[in-house]
Amino acid sequence: MANDRWISETLFDDLGFRMTYKADRVLYEMQTEHQHLVLFEQSHFGKVLMLDGATQVTTSDEFVYHEMMAHVPILAHGKAKDILIVGGGDCGIAEEVLKHKSVKRLVQVEIDQSVVDFSREHFPEFTGPVLSDKRFELVIADGMKYVADTDRRFDVVIVDSTDPQGPGAVLFSEEFYAGVKRCLKPGGVMVTQNGVPFFQPDELTGSIEKFRKLWKDGFCYVAAIPTYIGGHMTMGWASDDRKLRQVAVKTVAQRYARAGRFQTRYWTPEVHVAAFALPRFIADSVAAVK
Ligand code: SAM
Repeated sequence: MANDRWISETLFDDLGFRMTYKADRVLYEMQTEHQHLVLFEQSHFGKVLMLDGATQVTTSDEFVYHEMMAHVPILAHGKAKDILIVGGGDCGIAEEVLKHKSVKRLVQVEIDQSVVDFSREHFPEFTGPVLSDKRFELVIADGMKYVADTDRRFDVVIVDSTDPQGPGAVLFSEEFYAGVKRCLKPGGVMVTQNGVPFFQPDELTGSIEKFRKLWKDGFCYVAAIPTYIGGHMTMGWASDDRKLRQVAVKTVAQRYARAGRFQTRYWTPEVHVAAFALPRFIADSVAAVK
């Protein structure tokens, strides 16, 4: 066999733990202006994108994270028209957001043009429908600067960032969250990629502590994403109306029907509501945040 290349996720090196994939074919590898990028094919997971040693998206399980980051805030809000995605260069979340007929405008602020460029080639299932949708606007910029300066206002902000390292670190800062708060319309909600608390407990509680300084309600919800190793993945949640995360299944289902009842593979109205029922160890750490 040609010498197989094994590619490791190095995100948890501080824990003395790595997940390693046997790459069947490396499709793209470069040091962009912002980060190291490798895209490879793997027999079980399909295409795998890694940025700075952290798994970002795999074609085998992308639907879990992309559906949960898009449909939960939009259907909890109930009348979302203007959406902002910070990060999200592969366009997987944008593709889910644009399935909602209520969405009139979607702005995506991605720092790294290279991520979008190769996603066009390697993830056409996402970028195809997104880049041809008239409601979509791509801005290549640092999300921190964008939320601080924009005069646009949004109903939902989805922070689809990398982990708090490299260019993504600023997207976990209080200054960034204050910028998001500034460009949210009244009744708006922000959701964030907030890691796997079994390995990254401080990332979650650190974010929630900052949310609670800026919003009346800082919380999270969970999903099981096979390639975000370590058990439950958390998505941070911030809004000024606690009821937004307590919408009943029946109401979520009615909103989903109005939105067009598009096909999903993970999200359902029941999963939406259940995602806010946190396992005890996560609930306790969230409750302990001031
Ligand atoms: N689903 C992935 C996860 O959970 O880690 C994230 C996917 S997406 C590829 C993350 C994107 O955030 C990348 O395209 C990266 O370039 C972008 N990004 C990192 N820092 C950023 C910043 N400061 N402003 C805007 N985009 C940023």
